[in-house]
Amino acid sequence: MRLLLVEDEEKLAKALSQGLTQKGYAVDILHRGDKAFDRISLNHADYDLIILDLMLPGMDGETICKRAREYNITTPILILTARNEVESKINLLLAGADDYLVKPFSFEELCARIQVILRRPSEIVPAILRAGDIEMNIVERTVKRDDKPIDLTLKEFVLLEYFIRHPNKVINREELLTHLWDFNYASFSNVVDVHVKNLRKKLGDNNGQGLLETVRGVGYRLKE
Ligand code: CA
Repeated sequence: MRLLLVEDEEKLAKALSQGLTQKGYAVDILHRGDKAFDRISLNHADYDLIILDLMLPGMDGETICKRAREYNITTPILILTARNEVESKINLLLAGADDYLVKPFSFEELCARIQVILRRPSEIVPAILRAGDIEMNIVERTVKRDDKPIDLTLKEFVLLEYFIRHPNKVINREELLTHLWDFNYASFSNVVDVHVKNLRKKLGDNNGQGLLETVRGVGYRLKE
């Protein structure tokens, strides 16, 4: 899951981004509203959620939200507001925000709100995902193959989850980078290959002919 965080308080942005990265999200940060609107207009399909501060230099969060919806951009938006701006909450929801959070908020509450928003369209998606003899529990973040537990890093876990959610589809490196890594990694596309290699090793597939197939010159495919 990739998030765009738009927040002009740089320390807060950095702290939130670090925490969210530790939870397995890829996070891009922008500090200005006008830059954020440009990014959202052009790259909204790259993001699963936009976290938008209300008071921003360049363009305020409510205007960004309203304009994005006018452009038929449906990416979920969570707005961060200061306490004295709470009376505008109805306007925020009317402007097309999915939810809002009043500062100061706890990091755990932010995570809970994000999970609820991201779960909304896919509530029927089960906590257990299966592909062949592999079983992933998304809630407990555990993986088993043939009932034997496999210890994956967070990145390997989200990578495997992405493959299992898109079975039999050839997925290229750019798509994986876009959805699972943030902008800092955009130019290091071998980071994907390295993680796929490690993932295969842990799954016991070392030759590229197992569950995760290499599609030469294109990317990877999970065979079901
Ligand atoms: Ca602000």
